[in-house]
Amino acid sequence: MSSLISNYIVIVATSGVLNALLALFAYYKKTDFSGIKAFIITSAASAVYTFGFALELSGSTMQEISFWIKVEYLGMPYIAPSGLIMIMYFVGLDRLVTRKLLTVLYSIPCITTLLVWTNDLHHLYYQSMHFREGAPTPLVDIVMGPWYIIQGSVTFGCMLAGMVLILWQWNRLKLSYLRQLIILFIGQFLPALGAFLYLIDSTPYGMDPVPVIMSVTSTLYIWAILSRSLLTAAPIARENLFSSMRDGVLVTDRGDMLVDYNRAATEMLEGLDSSAIGRPLAQLFLPAGAEAVEYVMNSDPLVSGERELAWYRGEEIYYYQVRSSPVQKHTGVYSGRMIVLIDVTERRLLQEKLLQLATIDSLTGISNRTHFLECSRRALEEAKESKAPLSIILLDIDFFKSINDRYGHQYGDQALQHIAAVCGRHLRGEDIFGRYGGEEFVICLPRIALKEAAMLAETIRQGIERSQLYTMSGAIQVTASFGVVEARRADTSLEELLSEADHALYSSKRNGRNAVHLYKGDAIVHFTNNG
Ligand code: GH3
Ligand code: MG
Ligand code: MG
Repeated sequence: MSSLISNYIVIVATSGVLNALLALFAYYKKTDFSGIKAFIITSAASAVYTFGFALELSGSTMQEISFWIKVEYLGMPYIAPSGLIMIMYFVGLDRLVTRKLLTVLYSIPCITTLLVWTNDLHHLYYQSMHFREGAPTPLVDIVMGPWYIIQGSVTFGCMLAGMVLILWQWNRLKLSYLRQLIILFIGQFLPALGAFLYLIDSTPYGMDPVPVIMSVTSTLYIWAILSRSLLTAAPIARENLFSSMRDGVLVTDRGDMLVDYNRAATEMLEGLDSSAIGRPLAQLFLPAGAEAVEYVMNSDPLVSGERELAWYRGEEIYYYQVRSSPVQKHTGVYSGRMIVLIDVTERRLLQEKLLQLATIDSLTGISNRTHFLECSRRALEEAKESKAPLSIILLDIDFFKSINDRYGHQYGDQALQHIAAVCGRHLRGEDIFGRYGGEEFVICLPRIALKEAAMLAETIRQGIERSQLYTMSGAIQVTASFGVVEARRADTSLEELLSEADHALYSSKRNGRNAVHLYKGDAIVHFTNNG
């Protein structure tokens, strides 16, 4: 046996050792990389293959050689499919690694192993094997059987697919992950190149160079695992997760300058692109409006917290839930913060809508009875505390039933809106105005005493009387009757006040309608502008 061949055998055997080491390494490495199992299988299969190959090379009889070939096939067919699966995990395509795919990818190698071991019976894998003439060592040439071609296609297919996936990810990757990707690519590309050269018969002495190449690639892998933390996690999977999140994420350094952001953030924050890296967060939040800037300036980066903010995107206003949390290095040292932006506009608008439905009368747009009572009760409490006056006006449209009867319900509705509008014109911002019942309205007037309230009621009464409601069926004359009361005692309840106002209102009705009556405790009196 020539020294060239023995050197070759040594290299191949070394490759086997390296692969075995790599498999053990990967097996004992604590990692959260989900493709680690596939990596272990590739390495172990490579070890079996290369050891088998070394022993094949040192074999001298056809019997020996064909036995070691069979041993090689316990590993070789599984290398490329496992490699592909590992890369799929690496590039974040975990969800595509299904039981179905695994069955397809591994069933052909299994059949190959079976066929190689039973080849003498059917010659489906090798049609024939014979010693090569003139080779420096006993080398066996083979004639391919049909299954050889199938297995070959699967091997090349998997290697190619792996390379395509790596290239596909190239652009999407952060620089720090590129090194890992290059190593993976070399680990995939070099053996594929060797296998290809072997296939087209362009290798020295027609020998298979793949095991030798594997000694290089596995050394590279070992070095990468040791020094570069290859396979600690699937960086691309993490990267994908980061960029595919629907919520915007911004990461800053200790000085609150932007360090990183994801794709969603670019849509949520105007002007966010790579030129924003290194700029102060407060400056980046400027287009989002004052509230956002104020949040950045005043929130403590060391403390986790969240707030809902009004957020401008151009002319439109959105609502974002903004969560800030400090980021620490492994050493526990504070290194910046992460800000998550969650678009809650839809929820916020829905809440507002629900609140509106619960508090506003849909026909007139003023407070409904429940909301009126709630607000007025609060106002009454405050009035008692501050010893300020508070008055109530209750009004009821006169002969409203006949408006409905004469003009139709639709015009009745319009009349209600009309009255609400007339009253609204005379009220201050702090007055509480509600629809009390069908065609009854109520006004709560904080800090207004009886006399002033009576004058206001009279003004509104005249306003209603004078403003006609114009309809297609002509002008409708509407009037209303009023009852006015002031909270005189400290222990008066809102219900009492309303009932007293109702008494006064009843007096207005009984005395010819379209009038204002005041409840004065011991008496109910008619009020006119001149006293
Ligand atoms: P009075 O001068 O004594 O107050 O007589 P009225 O006809 O105004 O009083 P009544 O209580 O007899 O009738 C009130 C009517 O208001 C009966 C009801 O059909 C009508 N009504 C109540 N709510 C609505 C509404 O939302 N739209 C319309 N169009 N009519 C309503
Ligand atoms: Mg009425
Ligand atoms: Mg009524």
